[in-house]
Amino acid sequence: MSTNNSVNSNLISDLSNAVGEQYVIWQAEDLLVYEYDGSIDKATPQAVVLPETAEEVSEVVKIANKHGAYIVARGAGTSLSGGAVPLRDAVVIALTRLTSLIEVDAKNRIAIVEPGMINLHLSQRVSHLGLFYAPDPASQKTCTIGGNIGENAGGPHCLALGVTTNHVLGLEVVLADGSLNWFGGTERESTGYDLRGAFVGSEGTLGIVTKIAVRLLPKPETIHSMLAAFTTMDAASNTVSAIIAAGMIPSALEMMDRKTIDAVEPFYNPGYPAEAEAVLIVEVDGLYEAVEEQTETILSICNQNGAMEIREADDEDTRTKLWETRKGAIGAYGTIAPTYYLVDGVVPRTKLRQVLQQVDQIAAELNVTVANVFHAGDGNIHPAILFNEQNPDEVKQAILAGSKILEACVAAGGALSGEHGIGIEKQAYMPLVFNENDLEAMSRLRTAFIGESPDNEPIGVPSLGERFNPGKVFPGGAIHGEAYGITSESFRSTGTQDWQ
Ligand SMILES: Cc1cc2nc3c(=O)[nH]c(=O)nc-3n(C[C@H](O)[C@H](O)[C@H](O)COP(=O)(O)OP(=O)(O)OC[C@H]3O[C@@H](n4cnc5c(N)ncnc54)[C@H](O)[C@@H]3O)c2cc1C
Repeated sequence: MSTNNSVNSNLISDLSNAVGEQYVIWQAEDLLVYEYDGSIDKATPQAVVLPETAEEVSEVVKIANKHGAYIVARGAGTSLSGGAVPLRDAVVIALTRLTSLIEVDAKNRIAIVEPGMINLHLSQRVSHLGLFYAPDPASQKTCTIGGNIGENAGGPHCLALGVTTNHVLGLEVVLADGSLNWFGGTERESTGYDLRGAFVGSEGTLGIVTKIAVRLLPKPETIHSMLAAFTTMDAASNTVSAIIAAGMIPSALEMMDRKTIDAVEPFYNPGYPAEAEAVLIVEVDGLYEAVEEQTETILSICNQNGAMEIREADDEDTRTKLWETRKGAIGAYGTIAPTYYLVDGVVPRTKLRQVLQQVDQIAAELNVTVANVFHAGDGNIHPAILFNEQNPDEVKQAILAGSKILEACVAAGGALSGEHGIGIEKQAYMPLVFNENDLEAMSRLRTAFIGESPDNEPIGVPSLGERFNPGKVFPGGAIHGEAYGITSESFRSTGTQDWQ
């Protein structure tokens, strides 16, 4: 059996005493699955610990401190920006044994859950009470609510209902000294600084979330889903604009392009028209009368824009079938290429078509395959660059294409991330949208939670004093694509630096 070369036997022994030997992973072959998340960056941890309680998480943080080890919190490892990748030989704290639904207060529509609970399981557990948890990442069958807090995750139904931060009332967190703290409330209103808000979307850089008070919503009286196929992306984009211009905010408004259709057809056999270049999924919910009226308007807009086929669903089974291509699209990309790099940018809705055309141009210029599946209603694009990671030239082109797509989003007045976070992938782009003062303010906030850096490192570059999730979010902490031989951030817009 092979061993991890950098193993620190005293650390392993302390961790084993704290959580039990069987919950400490340190042998090289066992660490392989913790090297990566859903992004393309990779790094090997020195150990993985699976605590069972918040108190054990606190103990593990104290032990990591004693041994000078960095710490990376991990949920299901589905992050698409490198958030869960353990840089700097970190110890991974996997929260997947903390899965309890601690309390449900149906009257006040509040639940308290542990961070390792799978997103979809929460809605399933409270369904009999007529309630559900709104944020629904397409990965919801796998990803954890703790990971959703880390990335401030969104999802197809966040257009009308808001993203994770809008549904989190309070958090219990373990800070850098191992102390357990509660931020926010279990009531809808809490006073003082919004420390809960600072934690949501902090990508595991401020501490480890061990309990979460979430808001639950009543299930709508009725839901109606529609799927419309169009002969051009323009027609589908115009339909999106017309629906919003008609004053409606559907609960979901999602788009897939031809390449995505090609990927999902062999997987799910939906039988979309052969000439379809785009498929739109629109869902409305609420009171019967309102849903009926909105459905009529949306169908009429789809027809005005030349929809070639429309499918509808108003019961659970048909709706699940109608959604399966969208929710399974990313996995289905495996039918086109072995690896995907999913870029997450936001553009003003009015610039959607323009930026998608730029994405096509970038793909053509760099000779890469790009498929699009995205939350069209809120301008959150997800070009998936499909490539073979065994081929260094393809990797280089993929990373370069991702750079150019993000630059195009920012140039169009958009943002660096709609929901996948900054992680390793986008830190080099932070200066495109934030100036030095902005970044320093963020760095100071971080210091307020985790303490001063004893090594006096440059702003934002995590030092040994900054134990949580090193190398993430702030520019200069790591190099996106380093595992594939990218050696400098200057690569991001020129593609001309050294390539091993
Ligand atoms: C097929 C697919 C579809 C996806 N669709 C969507 C989508 O529609 N919307 C969307 O927003 N995202 C989507 N994602 C991205 C991903 O699923 C989300 O970012 C999700 O929130 C990550 O959850 P996780 O449990 O996998 O967290 P991980 O990947 O394990 O961790 C994510 C980040 O959170 C931190 N973290 C994890 N747990 C904790 C904790 N307890 N305390 C503090 N920090 C913590 C980690 O350190 C890391 O920085 C998709 C991913 C895939 C693979």
